[in-house]
Amino acid sequence: MIVTGEPSFRESVDLMFNRAVAVMDLSPGLEEKIRVCNSTYTVRFGVRLRGDIHTFTGYRSVHSEHHEPVKGGIRYAMSVNQDEVEALAALMTYKCALVEAPFGGSKGGLRIDPREWEEHELERITRRFAYELIKRDLINPSQNVPAPDMGTSEREMAWIVDQYQRMNTTDINAAACVTGKPLHQGGIAGRVEATGRGLQYGLREFFRHPEDVGKAGLSGGIEGKRVIVQGLGNVGYHTAKFLSEEDGAVIVGIIERDGAIFSSSGLDVEAVRDWIRLNGGVKDFPGATFTADGAAMLEVACDILIPAAMEGVINLSNAARIKAPLIVEAANGPVTAGADAVLRGKGVVLIPDMYANAGGVTVSYFEWVKNLSHIHFGRMERRQEEARHKLLVDELERLSSDKGLGWTLSPGFKDKYLRGADELELVRSGLDDTMRIAYQAMREVWHTRPEVTDLRMAAYVVAIDRVAKSYRSKGL
Ligand code: GLU
Repeated sequence: MIVTGEPSFRESVDLMFNRAVAVMDLSPGLEEKIRVCNSTYTVRFGVRLRGDIHTFTGYRSVHSEHHEPVKGGIRYAMSVNQDEVEALAALMTYKCALVEAPFGGSKGGLRIDPREWEEHELERITRRFAYELIKRDLINPSQNVPAPDMGTSEREMAWIVDQYQRMNTTDINAAACVTGKPLHQGGIAGRVEATGRGLQYGLREFFRHPEDVGKAGLSGGIEGKRVIVQGLGNVGYHTAKFLSEEDGAVIVGIIERDGAIFSSSGLDVEAVRDWIRLNGGVKDFPGATFTADGAAMLEVACDILIPAAMEGVINLSNAARIKAPLIVEAANGPVTAGADAVLRGKGVVLIPDMYANAGGVTVSYFEWVKNLSHIHFGRMERRQEEARHKLLVDELERLSSDKGLGWTLSPGFKDKYLRGADELELVRSGLDDTMRIAYQAMREVWHTRPEVTDLRMAAYVVAIDRVAKSYRSKGL
């Protein structure tokens, strides 16, 4: 989104970076090295479709290679441009550092409206784009590992991995060249919903700290909180679903392309999703009021506002009118640097994108590790765990019968205990740990350093510090 009178997305990220480094002790040279984007590759390729040659423009930007491979999604949208992929690549660097996923930052994009093309056309376009990137090691299990982003999903990742396999028939690690793949093609359980799940775990961790909740003028837990979500795509849908179905949040507003719907008693996320599928938008959803001016819903009073669509949607033109005391950035860069300052001035607490939506790349990391180990995620651990649990159960039963105690374990408990954790459970608990630990790292900086005034600044300080350590130890 172009916001007049405001810096571009990349400049906005740089401004946020600058706020953080101002309170850090980095040499100007190192500061510059971390801030800049290392390289951006632009490709224009033609595909013969519908009897004519169509030219597409794509990008893959590498922000930082302090760890390799570099990591980040590939976006399909008409708004894709160099500035945007560079901003998103930079955010990937900081996001990975914050959740300790050992990757550098990268991002790709293709200027295309995926809704304009048939599936078989999208496959040809994707394979051609992937071919260009694979040729230059911009898709490679040890160099650069893409994933889904806005406008792409498991489907595109399946085409990409197949394209890579065709071009690298002897690479035994080929499956690790991209994450977010379908399960039957080397994907991992729980990746599709990982970003929404991570946001839920992150928000739960925030609500475990009454002091932090109080800074937003809120109290209690997630239950009963009125939530407005912008965007019911993969991230927004799963976030809204989990928060309402599992944590008792009330989704009062949903903003989509065609407008927004509101219901003070709460919207059924599943039903809204089905309605959108059938009708192409939220208009006329039963039992809710509709407004065609979707952006106006961002300004409606609620407890938690979750922008889960595009960058720049909260900007200088509407920031002062935002009423939510807590904003959780499910999208990347939904708040511009200018709006960030306005919101801070109003005392709004903002859980920043690089933390809030880090669940996706966290589970991508698990998937990549699974692919490289060539074994089901956690299978070894599961076998060991099952063996240990069996020893314990046998010992309990032996003791009980030896001493005539008459103890019996309930069959449900025994089954569950003996079974050990499956892949999905391991992914979820690994993600939960990651989100808790990352929050605590941000929180520590936020609460112990008076010059660090907010969670975004804290997130940048933690992330930049880790990247700096990595560069220093490399001798740069
Ligand atoms: N596109 C997602 C993001 O912005 C996921 C990236 C990944 O898994 O590499 O974080």
